[in-house]
Amino acid sequence: MVLVQKKSEHSSSSSSSIDGRIIAVKDNICTTDLPTTCASEMLRDYVSPYEATVVQNLKRAGAIIMGKTNMDEFGMGSHSIYSAFGAVVGPSPPEDPQPRSAGGSSGGSAVAVAMGMCDAALGTDTGGSVRLPASYCGVVGFKPSYGMLSRLGVVAYANSLDTVGILGKDHDPRDPTSLSPETRKRLRENLSKSSYNKASLRIGIPTEYNVTELTPAVREAWETTAQTLLSLGHRITPISLPHTPHSLSSYYVLAPAEASSNLAKYDGVRYGHRSAADRSSPDNILFAPTRHDGFGAEVRRRILMGAYALSSEAKENYFIQAQRVRALVQSDFDAAFVQPNWLKMRHKDKRAPPRDGGQGRVDVILAPCALSAAPLLSDVRAQRSPLDAYVNDVLTVPASLAGVPAVSVPVWVEGGRNPEGRPIGMQVMTQFGDEGVLWEAAKILE
Ligand code: GLN
Repeated sequence: MVLVQKKSEHSSSSSSSIDGRIIAVKDNICTTDLPTTCASEMLRDYVSPYEATVVQNLKRAGAIIMGKTNMDEFGMGSHSIYSAFGAVVGPSPPEDPQPRSAGGSSGGSAVAVAMGMCDAALGTDTGGSVRLPASYCGVVGFKPSYGMLSRLGVVAYANSLDTVGILGKDHDPRDPTSLSPETRKRLRENLSKSSYNKASLRIGIPTEYNVTELTPAVREAWETTAQTLLSLGHRITPISLPHTPHSLSSYYVLAPAEASSNLAKYDGVRYGHRSAADRSSPDNILFAPTRHDGFGAEVRRRILMGAYALSSEAKENYFIQAQRVRALVQSDFDAAFVQPNWLKMRHKDKRAPPRDGGQGRVDVILAPCALSAAPLLSDVRAQRSPLDAYVNDVLTVPASLAGVPAVSVPVWVEGGRNPEGRPIGMQVMTQFGDEGVLWEAAKILE
């Protein structure tokens, strides 16, 4: 956490639900009066000349931006330990002071909310970076539909997956949306109104999410949540999202590929860190030392992986193949939901009266967000391969690949297989643009 900012002169309507709310902002979202470092040596002193649209919208609505939060460098990580400023430490009860993972990459935002330092926080979620920390820290983490919140002024990691997400204590972090009101209205008409009946949601349990790595505590929380929903009169159906097992490999080809291209601009010429070795280079075209010193090891690994996936010899087998898998993951979701995918509808149908048009049977999908409750930081650090951390994202990347909205809601199932009563994040997913139903379901879970 850095400075506390004065309330913006631009703040207007005192009737806004955000007026006077204290908001923390992940440090890859540009602010003009605070640095935007992306937790990288590369951008240690960087102050953006312009402000992200989401920050501007919040300020206009009267929010107070309390500071910037620590994260995994450029959003790459699952435990917020890959930061030039040191690791984020998750919240622990006084009786168990062992440091735990806050989740990543928006770990700082999740901790700020969990510790009551702010009313809500902005994060970014490319493959789970809002939902995983929310799950570990026991707060609500919302990844909107892809494209729902503006990314102008948000430092790109993987453009086709990046979303701005919101972390809050409860289900209503007051979406500071920048989507045009007209598109919002059309989406609402086409989706939510069409096919769901609040009294009884059709809830799908994707069998492929029941992976062997799920800890007993998480499996129990999932079962208990489904039972509770059933007893409240909702319908529970097992469903199949058959390409789920391939999502993780697809994501870890596509995200680094896009990252390798996005991060090419950090060469120390226009802005950011520049190594002395490069400055003294006689032929001045070298930037290898700058990039070596400016980026942490994990970011360099992603750049190498991505550049390889895009190279002529590997492109067909990796990048193109991963894109095909992504399309299949998307169709899995379309095949599951009653609601049609608005993005895939023909232009004239988008304006037609709402109707059920999807191929599937459910309004909502319910699954855990993470394999376990927050692990000890010492266990995370003891992992032999950095790839071990990638596995943590197995339950969050499918929604990212499909672009559908997802929210992680904490449940506390004490006793039984979760003797310590640690929070466990339950993930609710709905069709693209169907945030209305998403929040209905999230509210029931709380
Ligand atoms: N852990 C994932 C990664 O490292 C997701 C990160 C994110 O959503 N920004 O890529």
